[in-house]
Amino acid sequence: MSKDNSASTDLVIDIPSLFRNAGSFEPVECQWSPSEIVTSYSSAKALVGVLNVEALTEKITVSGSIDIHWIGPCRRCLEEAKGITQIFIQEIFEHNAAEGETFEFPSGEKLDLKPMLTEQTLLSLPLAPLCSDTCEGPIDTEFPIDISQNQTSDSKQINKKDPRWEALDVLKFDDDQDHSA
Ligand SMILES: [Zn+2]
Repeated sequence: MSKDNSASTDLVIDIPSLFRNAGSFEPVECQWSPSEIVTSYSSAKALVGVLNVEALTEKITVSGSIDIHWIGPCRRCLEEAKGITQIFIQEIFEHNAAEGETFEFPSGEKLDLKPMLTEQTLLSLPLAPLCSDTCEGPIDTEFPIDISQNQTSDSKQINKKDPRWEALDVLKFDDDQDHSA
């Protein structure tokens, strides 16, 4: 039994052997399923592509394109959305790296490409995933407000005589009597 592909998928470059062939590209296959490249909005499930790694004088360049396979909740319906975002890698590893522009040349004999890929992927993961272009959001929730129900509840009392007026009628009657008397 052999551990197939382990050498090509661990994304770690042996620097001395790379510089033995200085000036020539070394294609590195990327088939990585990271577990910790996650933002609040989406997470990377797989990074797939080929990177060309080249040794220059005191520098290593890494270039190529990577497909980020991501999943995350749809911003409209909150169902799981998934998609592929392609990123282009064009990075330089050098001594005294310029912060934010190049990466520091490793001090040991190995160059691990995963931290650089993690950084680039975090910058490219979608902030607002969409399950499909036609997603119309959640199904309308119905909270019916029945306006008609209470509207006519007093209608039957409109013509009913207010009992207080009856007392007034009595007084009026007495008045009339007093008058006539
Ligand atoms: Zn959706």
